[in-house]
Amino acid sequence: MKFNGIDFDTYFKNYPDENGYFGKYGGAYLDEGLKKAMDEVTEAYFTICKSSKFVSDLRRIRKEFQGRPTPISHLERLSKSLGNVQIYCKREDLNHTGAHKLNHCMGEGLLAKYMGKKKLIAETGAGQHGVALATAAAYYGLECEIHMGSVDIAKQAPNVARMKILGAKIVEVKHGLKTLKEAVDSAFEAYAKDYKNSIYCIGSVVGPHPFPMMVRDFQSVVGIEAREQFLEMTGELPDNIVACVGGGSNSMGFFAGFLNDPVNIYGVEPLGRGKTYGDHAASLCYGTEGVMHGFNSIMLKDENGEPAPVYSVASGLDYPSSGPEHAFLRDCGRVIYDTASDEEALDAFYSLSRLEGIIPAIESSHAIAYAVKLAKKLKKGSVLVNLSGRGDKDMDYIIEKYGIR
Ligand SMILES: *Cc1c(COP(=O)(O)O)cnc(C)c1O
Repeated sequence: MKFNGIDFDTYFKNYPDENGYFGKYGGAYLDEGLKKAMDEVTEAYFTICKSSKFVSDLRRIRKEFQGRPTPISHLERLSKSLGNVQIYCKREDLNHTGAHKLNHCMGEGLLAKYMGKKKLIAETGAGQHGVALATAAAYYGLECEIHMGSVDIAKQAPNVARMKILGAKIVEVKHGLKTLKEAVDSAFEAYAKDYKNSIYCIGSVVGPHPFPMMVRDFQSVVGIEAREQFLEMTGELPDNIVACVGGGSNSMGFFAGFLNDPVNIYGVEPLGRGKTYGDHAASLCYGTEGVMHGFNSIMLKDENGEPAPVYSVASGLDYPSSGPEHAFLRDCGRVIYDTASDEEALDAFYSLSRLEGIIPAIESSHAIAYAVKLAKKLKKGSVLVNLSGRGDKDMDYIIEKYGIR
């Protein structure tokens, strides 16, 4: 299928190019030391991850440890409450550890093991990526070092406890604003010092090449499974698919299964409290081109061109940029990016819980909220949503902040 001059029949052969570019987005903006480390990872990715041994190992781990394939559920009561559009969801909340993040962490960990590395290094904000990576490290018998700002450590006590129970070492980052940005810098520094023994594991389709490609490829199991399951379930492809976009990994993996199909694709960004600067994290809807964290993409900037302050009720979505492939798919029009607000996400959180018996992650609730808006608008057809994770992690916060509705 051709779309605005881009040939999607051969898309995965051509994007990214050998330097990690999706059109003008992507690349690896790094100093020499780290560049060498990334080149080693890229080389290993193409030789190891494409080998039949690696592929069959990962397939077995997905089945026997992660519990894949995750099912698709038809949301019958939610659909009925809205009219004639049928809404379905892909249940990444049923993936081991309760979200999609483990999909790329198990891949990254297996690659580290094949490369003979001893340690996995990463940063974490809300702690979700840290927990998924600590899980992978425990499974493979690797050390795990998670960099985290003091502010986030205080806020995310349950996830900090999980990481410690899983045997990870937490490195507390005490300078600057003591949150995600400082944690990224600290983790990069630790990796630059010890890249012979360790591998850096990015938590989304962001960062320097090869990570946007590698994380997409590991996450594409979600889209590939979903396409096959939906066809088997209904005899057709979905008319519309929807996923929430923070850094963009659950959405990119899900979309990857459908890019070459006559399916409308929607990425949903967090509008938070509204369109005012600082009140949202909708980088693809309101941002401009720029380089941060080692890659070129669309980002929200402050007056100095630095990453802008962002906000969302969903801590997994409050990142000032998104992966370069999303920027590319936005520009060529293959994916429509739009928003859902905190309030809309909260409504969806309760609707799904009460009509379907599924408590969604507040991140995923943004995608459900958008599917609800689509269903009201379209009047017929189907919508398949990627339910990226379960909401157990959000319950205390939501009750404390908003009360029971
Ligand atoms: C981290 C997270 C997200 C956002 O990350 P992406 O890379 O955009 O997928 C979405 N949903 C859940 C449940 C998460 O934990």
